[in-house]
Amino acid sequence: MTAVKPPSPMMQQYLAIKAQHTDKLVFYRMGDFYELFFDDAVTAAKLLDITLTTRGQHNGEPIKMAGVPYHSIEQHLAKLVKLGCSVAICEQVGEVGTSKIVERKVVRIVTAGTLTDSALLEDKETNRIAALFVGKKQSALAWAALESGEFKVKIISINQLADELARLQVAELLLDDTFRLPENAPKIPVSRLNAWQFAPDTAYKLLTDYFGSQDLRGFGLDLQEHSAAISAAGALLNYLKITQNQLPPHMDALMLETENQFIALDAATRRNLEITATLSGKKSPTLFSILDECVTHMGSRLLANWLHHPLRNRAHIQARLNAVNSLLQNDFSSISGSLKNIADIERIAARIALGTARPRDLSALRDSLFYLNQISLPNSSLLDTLAVCFPQTLAVAELLQAALLPEPSVWLKDGDVINHNYNKELDELRHLQTHGDDFLRDLETRERERTQLSTLKVEFNRVHGFYIELSKNQAEQAPSEYQRRQTLKNAERFITPELKAFEDKFLAAQDKALVLEKVLYEQLLGSLKAELPKIQQTAKAAATLDILCSFAHTAQTQRYTMPQFSDSAELAIVGGRHPVVEQQVTHFTPNDTQLNSAQRLCLLTGPNMGGKSTYMRQVALIALLAHTGCFVPAEQAVIGKIDQIFTRIGASDDLASNRSTFMVEMSETAYILHHATAQSLVLMDEVGRGTSTFDGLALARAIAEHLLKKNGALSLFATHYFELTRLPEFYPQAFNRHLSALEQGQDIVFLHNVLDGAAEKSYGIAVAKLAGLPPKALKSAQKHLRELENQSADRQLDLFAEPVVLADEMADDVSGSLIAEKLAQVNPDDLTARQALDLVYELKNLLAE
Ligand code: ADP
Repeated sequence: MTAVKPPSPMMQQYLAIKAQHTDKLVFYRMGDFYELFFDDAVTAAKLLDITLTTRGQHNGEPIKMAGVPYHSIEQHLAKLVKLGCSVAICEQVGEVGTSKIVERKVVRIVTAGTLTDSALLEDKETNRIAALFVGKKQSALAWAALESGEFKVKIISINQLADELARLQVAELLLDDTFRLPENAPKIPVSRLNAWQFAPDTAYKLLTDYFGSQDLRGFGLDLQEHSAAISAAGALLNYLKITQNQLPPHMDALMLETENQFIALDAATRRNLEITATLSGKKSPTLFSILDECVTHMGSRLLANWLHHPLRNRAHIQARLNAVNSLLQNDFSSISGSLKNIADIERIAARIALGTARPRDLSALRDSLFYLNQISLPNSSLLDTLAVCFPQTLAVAELLQAALLPEPSVWLKDGDVINHNYNKELDELRHLQTHGDDFLRDLETRERERTQLSTLKVEFNRVHGFYIELSKNQAEQAPSEYQRRQTLKNAERFITPELKAFEDKFLAAQDKALVLEKVLYEQLLGSLKAELPKIQQTAKAAATLDILCSFAHTAQTQRYTMPQFSDSAELAIVGGRHPVVEQQVTHFTPNDTQLNSAQRLCLLTGPNMGGKSTYMRQVALIALLAHTGCFVPAEQAVIGKIDQIFTRIGASDDLASNRSTFMVEMSETAYILHHATAQSLVLMDEVGRGTSTFDGLALARAIAEHLLKKNGALSLFATHYFELTRLPEFYPQAFNRHLSALEQGQDIVFLHNVLDGAAEKSYGIAVAKLAGLPPKALKSAQKHLRELENQSADRQLDLFAEPVVLADEMADDVSGSLIAEKLAQVNPDDLTARQALDLVYELKNLLAE
């Protein structure tokens, strides 16, 4: 039996480190490579498409290994994090080259929610991490964005979780290791923590120590009353500490967010309104992509945030609108022009906080702060507040100007970062180096005279240091103290004792200068850390100004107008447009909307493709934009008090959670009926469509009645059930409107006008023709339609008749022929083109039987 060799010292070191990071991929620095071993190597080889090799043995088995060069680590990290992996970066921290094995330490843990490296982040998206605490009495969600220093917490119920995660666009979620996520939660990377990490006392201590405060009352948090919030925030802070190897120094407050700060939008509504992603998950065209005229990434990120958080506080909204108005009346394009020069100060501030800011970050910060201080703003309450932020950082800009060379090197290790006249010692060391030039010129003249050799030159290069060069012809005549250093094709290079002594002094000065620059740079970072709150405030102000200019730009180029607000429950829009669709069609037809306490539920009918969904969405988007402080795509808009916007539009099978279209439709509808109030805006598109005609019709009616009687919400209710258009006869608060269309022969022209009253027909076959249904199928569909119309002339489904009549009708149907029975159950207006075609085949089969 061969004895199994004990692991090498290096492998022992690796195994000890890996044991502390079992759930992460460990990138283990070895010289110019990061290596991964064992299962980590297999995973990384597969995910990164890199070669898997073996090296040495462990327990008698070859050790699997995969590696990446150190300079390309960023791209690999980006890929792994996107795939949901967490990575522990283990660096060589000890001295290399001594006989002992180099000391190594995990210096950073990279997870999806804690990225700060610009190479790993999307420029226009905020990267947030959240922690959920589920208590017996209360649950809370805390979240943070390392890049901006945002740190917030909110008491939530578990069934709000999916909506909250969608609102905040969370990149990573921290959970207690026993908690199972609800099925409807978005699929995001989850990291598990032990239950003790949420213990309120530990969390409380960590938070108070962090903020240097005695208690958390200043943040509106009481240990007894808000223990869930404290647990969530504490666990989150602790995780940040572990992953960053330090407590992030730039989160200066923990804000308790309350329910009524923003208009509530559930996850389905955010999706349906295509705020930052299209229904198919693309980044454009969306409300954000259309509105984003921001010239800085900070502005774009804050804009996405604003669109997901429409405000309820009228004073704040009005302040934004007034600022946009004031910009419009002045030359805002010159302000945008200046903002174009502004770097991503927010992310630079985060890197300063974490000690990873590079010289070019700081010079960009310096230039940006100077630019910001040159901007002059027109007057408005909000613009005045922004304007006072910028001068606060003038001193920082001046410090940076004094400390940094105008164009510092990219890497600190190369030197040439710190400015002249900033530090006396550095100036002296540098003087020695520049003085070196004088010495060399002097030496060259002296030696040329002494030796009388005309080709003699004294020079320096980084690899070979200083040398005296002579041409091949004159090299033989070199004095005896000249020692050969290097032979070239046409020249010889020499060194002399005098030159060697100078070289030593010169190189020592260079090394010393490099070390000193490093120290000075660290000190500079330290001074900047003390100024972080001001820098962050300036970044926020610049981002806000960028958005306001972007709003002004859109208002001007797209003819948006300032919305007005009223205190009653109403929406009065004249000439409203859909901000995204209007950019995609050559001619967009504007439409009016009137919803108020006397006219609460608008039943919307009209052909498929007529513009119903567009119209409904445009109403919601105008309301949302108004609450964001943006001008709106309408000639005029009066917006009443709105607490929530709900949408039930379209349906797709939720395959991931195994729920059918109908089930999704009904659960979303149930949510709306439970939550909508008289101040809510509700959009319902074709409810009941996913089931049989009778069921669907009955459900649609019941839902509409519930909205009218129980919720009292302002509702737009698009339907294919013509029977429903009789609802206003029974409820005066319901009214009919329809999307107009013209029939020209067999063709249909959509006018996209919303007119009073109900549509007369559904034009299903004309739309099917447009969709390219084969002429034969169309012809037979037409024939069947005629038959159906004849048959059903006196047999219309009568939703408002006594139930017993319906029952009798159905009883009659059973006695008919198979085909007649089939046809009696079908409402042609309710068929999609595809269903009509299927029906034709089915009827034909029945005939053949
Ligand atoms: P529906 O919901 O009735 O099936 P959509 O709202 O999806 O119809 O609209 C179908 C298409 O019609 C849109 O993609 C758009 O191109 C066009 N459209 C809708 N409304 C308008 C409008 N007001 N003006 C111009 N084109 C419109």
